[in-house]
Amino acid sequence: MLDAITVGEVLIDFTPAGSNEYGFQSFSANPGGAPANVMAALAKWGRKSGFIGKVGKDTFGEFLQQVLEQAGVDTRGLVLSEPYRTTLAFVHLQPDGDRSFSFYRSPGADMMLTPEEVQEDLVAEAGLLHFGSVSLTDEPSASATLHAVRLARSLGKLVSYDPNLRPALWRSLDEAKLRIREGLELAHIVKLSEEELEFLTGEQNLEAGTEQLYREFKTPIILVTLGAEGSFFRLGGECRRVPGRAVQAVDTTGAGDCYLAGFLLKLMEWGGAVERLDAAAAQSMAAFANAAGALITLRKGAIPAIPQLADIEAFLKE
Ligand code: ADP
Repeated sequence: MLDAITVGEVLIDFTPAGSNEYGFQSFSANPGGAPANVMAALAKWGRKSGFIGKVGKDTFGEFLQQVLEQAGVDTRGLVLSEPYRTTLAFVHLQPDGDRSFSFYRSPGADMMLTPEEVQEDLVAEAGLLHFGSVSLTDEPSASATLHAVRLARSLGKLVSYDPNLRPALWRSLDEAKLRIREGLELAHIVKLSEEELEFLTGEQNLEAGTEQLYREFKTPIILVTLGAEGSFFRLGGECRRVPGRAVQAVDTTGAGDCYLAGFLLKLMEWGGAVERLDAAAAQSMAAFANAAGALITLRKGAIPAIPQLADIEAFLKE
């Protein structure tokens, strides 16, 4: 049995590490991809998680399979593709510490997952299905992702969604909005950044923006991450801001994924009954998630930087 599964992308981020007049001296290569990070965090914290997706049958794909397995993620749903290559991402570090990405896809194996390749028995085995938007940007992976999500819904599973808007991956922002709205129709839990909330609703105000989403999609749990400020949630008619804890962040990669995994872990411990969740319980889930998100920023990378459960618990007691 699996507690959670995802359908989506896993890839390698290459970040330039030092340059001279002849070019870059080296790159640090970090395995990642938001859906894979969430599953790796749940596995590190003792939950059984699995991954459905596609990588190339090449050096990078085989490396990613190993990384997932070492992280404790079940890879029965991972397809190693013969003709398509593993997607690679090159990271542009901005002077303010923000990151943007160039993707190398030709096309990338992750976007070539077909609905027939989605192992339905794995979706049926899992209590929760998590998905994001990168795999919705093109076909056939968009159909494969939505097929898995609809199947999960029809089987009564919990569904969580991270719209994870990467404008450069979409043909147009109108298409992105349409597809993300399709995702929102299917989710019980959605995790957004402030920018994504504004993109979807035109609202900068957290209460007004999330109220608009709640009215339209009836999403039971809406989470908004606020970086070092912590996070905000709406649970039906009620919403709260949950302050973050200051840390000396080194690299914020994967913070949102670790935050969401933290919330999902606590929601599973609660029994997953979103309809019976009250604001006090959601607040303690968000506080745990904030701590998980803060602690991953203390180390470089995503999967290797996921904090231990005991360290999150100790940090919360400090
Ligand atoms: P995303 O990766 O989605 O942009 P954020 O950067 O907002 O997400 O981070 C997710 C969560 O991680 C935040 O809501 C917060 O709880 C925690 N977090 C991130 N950066 C910091 C930081 N510098 N200090 C403390 N907590 C942080």
